[in-house]
Amino acid sequence: MKYVDEYRDGELAKSIAATIAAEARPERVYRLMEFCGGHTHAISRYGLEDMLPANVQMIHGPGCPVCVLPIARVDLAIALARRPEVTLCAYGDLMRVPGSQGANLLKAKAEGADIRMVYSTLDAIRIAEAEPQREVVFFAVGFETTTPPTALALQMAIARGLSNVSIYCNHVMTPPAMRAILDVADPNDAVRIEGFIGPAHVSTIIGAAPYNVFAEQYGKPVVIAGFEPLDVLQAILMLVRQINDGRSVVENQYIRAVTPEGNRKAQAAMAALFEVRDTFEWRGLGFLPDSALQLRPELRAYDAEARFGLVAGAAKDNPACECGEILRGVKKPRDCKLFGGLCTPDNPMGSCMVSPEGACSAHWTYGRFRETQKTAGRRRSAA
Ligand code: SF4
Repeated sequence: MKYVDEYRDGELAKSIAATIAAEARPERVYRLMEFCGGHTHAISRYGLEDMLPANVQMIHGPGCPVCVLPIARVDLAIALARRPEVTLCAYGDLMRVPGSQGANLLKAKAEGADIRMVYSTLDAIRIAEAEPQREVVFFAVGFETTTPPTALALQMAIARGLSNVSIYCNHVMTPPAMRAILDVADPNDAVRIEGFIGPAHVSTIIGAAPYNVFAEQYGKPVVIAGFEPLDVLQAILMLVRQINDGRSVVENQYIRAVTPEGNRKAQAAMAALFEVRDTFEWRGLGFLPDSALQLRPELRAYDAEARFGLVAGAAKDNPACECGEILRGVKKPRDCKLFGGLCTPDNPMGSCMVSPEGACSAHWTYGRFRETQKTAGRRRSAA
């Protein structure tokens, strides 16, 4: 397929991996965080970690929108969906995110709640138009990538005079989460990171400039990368080179889609409808100031939290689930004793096992087989 296959060329991948191995200095460790769940998925899917030398290590970041949604806000969505007048519209990967006591949207739907799985924000608008007697709520989640479609759908609802539409807004922002990972006060909780692979789709919206602070103030190089295997390997090589040279700048590997200033139209649509929240809870990262969006005060009529008087409670994660540590990059999926036993994509106990972008899900889907092969290989050599 044009523009895809050439980014999946195995021989080129081996060649870039060999260059990384040649240039990575044996006396140091390169700990690189891929912020975005799309990169986590690509790294697992294409086995990229297996191509890297042992001292070039990938740390999975919190950039999976479903994974960072805290239990309390999942509980609110379930409570909202159970109201008899409400039709809750949600993307498919939200359906099995665990709330308190094993509840999720799929179970609530089976129990009779009117929950519709949608592929687009515009589906919610179509439902609202077709069923004016229903209160249609769109369960909006995601980083800067999915915020513009929510904004456009709301603009459409307003233009069409739909009064039965509202948004349950859980849109979050990337740079504050990156800052939170670097600003950990207790050094015992801090994860050592030498550089970041910057998100692909998010950066098409916000551009490259918002990452300058990490290069300039924190001394952490950032390379924005596409989602294909050659993109990721090239970004790793660019990071290794910056670290070797003692440089920390923002570089853009994904020049076919990302510009320094980003998508100005999308940014304008977001700014017209949303404002920054004072604080917002993230799973694994806690409450982060200025890290999420809410509808502007003049749009309160479309804000489901105001319209239905929603207030998030203090729900706790399953104590055995290590999603919080995984989202901060402190632990790996295998470190969780529920991984692959009690917790699988068919029966997720934590949010990281739900979406294909979640580290546990990606590791389960791809990584566990490679580990089995490696173990079998070791057993064969020992015999
Ligand atoms: S394996 Fe399941 S329970 Fe463990 S950290 Fe991952 S999602 Fe959470």
